[in-house]
Amino acid sequence: MTHETGCRNLVLILGDQLTRSLSSLRAADKAMDRVLFVEAHEETTYVRHHKKKIAFVLSAMRHFAEELRRIGWSVDYVKLEDDGNTGSFRGEVERACRRLSPQKIVVTEPGEWRVLEDMKTWQAASGLPVDILDDTRFLCSRAEFRAWASGRKQLRMEHFYRDMRQKTGLLMDDGKPAGGRWNYDADNRKPARADLFMPEPPRFSPDPVTAEVLTLVERRFTDHIGTLRPFWFAVTRADAEKAFDAFLDHALADFGTYQDAMLKGEKFLYHAVVSAYLNAGLLDPLDLCRKAVAAYQKGAAPLNAVEGFIRQIIGWREYVRGIYWLNMPDYAASNGLGASRPLPDFYWTGDTDMLCMAEAIGQTIGDAYAHHIQRLMVTGNFALLAGIDPQEVHEWYLAVYADAYEWVELPNTLGMSQFADGGLLASKPYISSGNYINKMSDYCGSCPYEVKARNGADACPFNALYWDFLARHKQSMKNNPRLGQVYAVWNKMDGEKREALRESAAIFLKRLDEKQKV
Ligand SMILES: Cc1cc2nc3c(=O)[nH]c(=O)nc-3n(C[C@H](O)[C@H](O)[C@H](O)COP(=O)(O)OP(=O)(O)OC[C@H]3O[C@@H](n4cnc5c(N)ncnc54)[C@H](O)[C@@H]3O)c2cc1C
Ligand code: SF4
Repeated sequence: MTHETGCRNLVLILGDQLTRSLSSLRAADKAMDRVLFVEAHEETTYVRHHKKKIAFVLSAMRHFAEELRRIGWSVDYVKLEDDGNTGSFRGEVERACRRLSPQKIVVTEPGEWRVLEDMKTWQAASGLPVDILDDTRFLCSRAEFRAWASGRKQLRMEHFYRDMRQKTGLLMDDGKPAGGRWNYDADNRKPARADLFMPEPPRFSPDPVTAEVLTLVERRFTDHIGTLRPFWFAVTRADAEKAFDAFLDHALADFGTYQDAMLKGEKFLYHAVVSAYLNAGLLDPLDLCRKAVAAYQKGAAPLNAVEGFIRQIIGWREYVRGIYWLNMPDYAASNGLGASRPLPDFYWTGDTDMLCMAEAIGQTIGDAYAHHIQRLMVTGNFALLAGIDPQEVHEWYLAVYADAYEWVELPNTLGMSQFADGGLLASKPYISSGNYINKMSDYCGSCPYEVKARNGADACPFNALYWDFLARHKQSMKNNPRLGQVYAVWNKMDGEKREALRESAAIFLKRLDEKQKV
């Protein structure tokens, strides 16, 4: 829907900028400026995003555009299938400039280096000034992170997080961390039991706007991964807030304790399931943290849960964004371990006998969601141990999760999960044998592989792959202090045992390369 009269400034709002207090909107004037939303074909297909993810973003954009209209903004909205839609931001900004003759283009910086680079060319192409404003929805600006990083030998999240605690005052008592410790992670590693009460995130029925989007996605993105229906995500701020309130009431108290747990058929456990809402701009990170701290202050949730929760948001979330912008564009190409095996097809289908992988991938296909430990210690761990090309792993994570935008996905995948950045982000590779998965989940009992067996056709593949990975990378990793103990075990191991493990890994990897079912 477009208006043909002119405007002073053209304000482009991207699909992950659905926030009323966005810097570009704050710099604009309802009476004189025009807001532009673009559903760009290029953005929906540069990786083949999950159907639920596309539906979520398009529906949330359409709802937010309506919200802005309701409060008096003039909005131009270009739908994916509108006549003349050029399919790119640049093409649509040019078309809007021809239509509206603005004096200036205003935009909040995007979450992706590729899009920022493109925006920087718009001024020359359009002959109009382009104001690219800071994204003030983050606590730490890109410049502030750069200053924090400058001169440091190591960029450890824990140090950054403490600064963010000081800056926000969250869980701080007279300049000291509440309870006397900065980090309660040591209390947060309990496996869950299937008979515990498991809250489910609230489900929202599609309204007519979402229903129209679902039909569009069904028709147009048939070859993309994922099950579209039932579609249950919140697509407005009001509903996303309801989802977060349900987390506060029913799950936050156990968030910390069971943060690393995994259970068959339990997709969400005590996780917040808000990352898609946060990253699209429907929820405000600081607001969520304040509400979690208020729950602690009134005794509704323990310190280990609330500290763990805010650490993910003011710590990890801000930190990975800083790492992304500090190191792009080179970061995207990093492959420190020289991994080159193609991503196995079962990442797209879930068709594998390894039950932990089938569970994590199956729920990803179903709901465009898996929680952190599934991403890190199941699908990520397997890819790292099997030497999968990190670029292919990155594209997979970017495509399959509803919360995936490059600024957050890329450092989590290449840095934290695949150790491809040479240890810039993580001090050691996140790897484990089947033993860890067995300890934290109830998967192994129902898996055709034997988790206790170290080698042989029936043995859990993670076991031989784990030792084979350590042996393959011994030269570069043996001096890592955090791997000292495992290398000591490997060095002491009987030669025949070592040989058997490496042979088992080689047989498994050959089957993987020959596309046999594993
Ligand atoms: C390989 C890999 C890829 C990932 N890709 C993404 C991604 O594309 N988008 C994304 O938002 N998160 C990503 N994460 C981080 C994390 O897995 C998700 O944020 C989390 O699972 C989202 O579910 P939740 O809302 O239930 O989170 P909870 O476990 O309830 O945590 C609360 C919030 O903390 C934040 N958070 C937690 N861990 C991280 C982290 N490591 N980095 C950034 N924010 C974090 C999220 O906003 C999350 O909503 C990835 C992790 C790994 C290991
Ligand atoms: S036995 Fe191994 S492959 Fe099977 S569920 Fe356990 S860790 Fe996964």
